[in-house]
Amino acid sequence: MQPVTDSDVVVVGGGPAGSACAAELSGVGHAVTLVDDGRRLGSWAGESLPPGAIDLITSVFGEDVLEGHRRAYGVRSAWGSSDLGSTDFMSTPLGDGLILDRARFDEQARAQARCRGASVIAGRVQSVEADGDSWTCTLHDGRRLRSAWLVDATGRSASVASRLGARRARADRLMAQVLTASDRGDAIAGTIIESVPEGWWYSTPLPDGRRVIALLTDTDLLSADADRSARWRSALEATVHLHSAAGEISSDVEPSLHRADTSVLHPMAGERWCAIGDAAAAWDPLSSQGVVSAVLVGARAGRAIPDPAALRGLESDVHLLVSEHAALQSHFYGLERRWPDEPFWHRRQI
Ligand SMILES: Cc1cc2nc3c(=O)[nH]c(=O)nc-3n(C[C@H](O)[C@H](O)[C@H](O)COP(=O)(O)OP(=O)(O)OC[C@H]3O[C@@H](n4cnc5c(N)ncnc54)[C@H](O)[C@@H]3O)c2cc1C
Repeated sequence: MQPVTDSDVVVVGGGPAGSACAAELSGVGHAVTLVDDGRRLGSWAGESLPPGAIDLITSVFGEDVLEGHRRAYGVRSAWGSSDLGSTDFMSTPLGDGLILDRARFDEQARAQARCRGASVIAGRVQSVEADGDSWTCTLHDGRRLRSAWLVDATGRSASVASRLGARRARADRLMAQVLTASDRGDAIAGTIIESVPEGWWYSTPLPDGRRVIALLTDTDLLSADADRSARWRSALEATVHLHSAAGEISSDVEPSLHRADTSVLHPMAGERWCAIGDAAAAWDPLSSQGVVSAVLVGARAGRAIPDPAALRGLESDVHLLVSEHAALQSHFYGLERRWPDEPFWHRRQI
């Protein structure tokens, strides 16, 4: 059996939430191990940060973490009508947004955690056992990590907390069908959003010159496996604006399928453990709030551990965020009135 590495806290998952939590915990002197399996596929989602998020994220990680990404000066959308409108970030007091190179951002955030003293290791946590007053995580290669506290930052899977009995409540069944293609560049710059009868599309140019193209729809509205890719292509062709952003899409690449529902974990914390980021609560991507919320909730958990009352306070604040988010989503979905009888929109009417 492999020797055990001891720390005060093991954080499982080195995305934005896990790195923020590990950085805060290490900053106040806790011995922290941050373990990430490296399975995340870089910028597959084309995440952007809305105006205002840059200051919040640099307040946790410092300014270097947002170097080398792509400035976003606005968003164009055809929502509620087929006309393409634009929101210019220059006209908001909060400044520009940012389109993230996610692999780079995650690496920079983990580097910040390491800089403040966390031990950052590569590995996949495969099992977790409670052992008296401590936890033992066993990795895919047999290494073992022992700690007093355990943090689940594994994203939507919440794979640690679900082993401890926590359950996810989903508000909807939203799925993203995503493909990365070459960017036509000259056609439509920046992010574009377009609503359609079966849901909505977005497309975002990545910092590496490619472009993410995604259809968001409900699980039960997806075509059967065999027809899915062809249906995605014909639905893209039928868009009024968005198809012109995509360059040539080769016929042998298929869109990949990812969960994009709004969902909440119950409970988010227990005896010497807590969940943060998407593991605790995940949002419909329409809000573009996932990364900044993950960083802020992760950092706050880092300051709350090991105080159970502070963690209970954090859990109730996350529930508050979920309610505010739900109200905002209803507002935006309510602005689209063209297809009241289509299941996707019917479900989202107040
Ligand atoms: C289609 C789509 C579009 C989106 N667009 C935006 C956007 O524009 N703006 C925005 O802010 N947000 C967006 N989001 C949300 C954003 O991606 C998430 O909110 C954010 O990544 C959450 O960060 P996290 O750290 O909680 O989890 P994650 O980023 O999922 O990180 C979890 C990490 O844990 C690792 N891991 C998992 N299990 C284990 C294990 N057992 N052992 C070790 N490591 C493990 C994973 O490999 C990963 O590195 C979008 C989401 C979707 C689905």
